Amino acid sequence: MDVINAFTIDVEGWFNMLDIPGGPGREDWQRLEDRDTAQTLRMLDLVERYGARATCFMLGWTVDHRPGLLRDIARRGHEIASHGYGHDLLYEMTPQQFRDDLQRSKEVIHRECGTLPRGYRVPGFSLTESTPWAFQVLADAGFDYDSSLFPSTRGHGGMPSALRLPHYVDLPDGKRIREFPISVTHVFGRRIAYAGGGYLRFFPYRLVRRWLRRANEAGEPVILYIHPHDADVGRPRLRMPLKRRFKCYYNLHTTMGKLERLLQDFRWGTAYDVLNRALPAAAPPANATGRD
Ligand SMILES: [Zn+2]
Repeated sequence: MDVINAFTIDVEGWFNMLDIPGGPGREDWQRLEDRDTAQTLRMLDLVERYGARATCFMLGWTVDHRPGLLRDIARRGHEIASHGYGHDLLYEMTPQQFRDDLQRSKEVIHRECGTLPRGYRVPGFSLTESTPWAFQVLADAGFDYDSSLFPSTRGHGGMPSALRLPHYVDLPDGKRIREFPISVTHVFGRRIAYAGGGYLRFFPYRLVRRWLRRANEAGEPVILYIHPHDADVGRPRLRMPLKRRFKCYYNLHTTMGKLERLLQDFRWGTAYDVLNRALPAAAPPANATGRD
């Protein structure tokens, strides 16, 4: 199998969870412990051990408050992309607020490593049918690709109607932007995410491997997404409803083992490189790619 898959990390704080009433607000973040630098570097050590490179979608706030982290990641040859600045839900922002958040994230990345991010991923997969304008804002801000679409249903965010494979999004101004949606598989006719976050923690490895293999055998690249806190067994527990608590903290101890087996069993690269193989920037628009 020569399909290369994308290994991506959303680099943010362990407290950057969305929709938790009474959870730490922006004014509290600064006094909370930095557990994220160590967890991020631990994941990258693992990726490098298998000769791969990852894409790090950096939260601007984290870049500002974890000195040296972004520079270290860039120096080690990983792709630096943007996760926005303040970790706000897109569907609660105006286009202007989104523009400002993107601009701020680009500035901190450029300040730290001298390059601009090509890729973007929204917090909480909150690019939905109610925010179609977001793609044009991203293109205007100079982004080459987006990886915000979650082509299934979920608690917040998600776009069940989205194409499930890399595709072009046609923009109102006649240009296009590339989209790399989160990978889903079909289980009893339903689209199920499996290669990231709580889904990866939840499913047994043999199922994840079977679904990923099925995709690669069909010639489809998979995009894995993970957070530093997905492997942080000792992270402080926040108060939240039981269902949410399960999603946030279930099986944290299995993450590193599953990532290692994925690195052993499949080929991995950055989102930008994988996207370039799947969907050349100069090629004509895909017609029906990604329809079920
Ligand atoms: Zn996030």
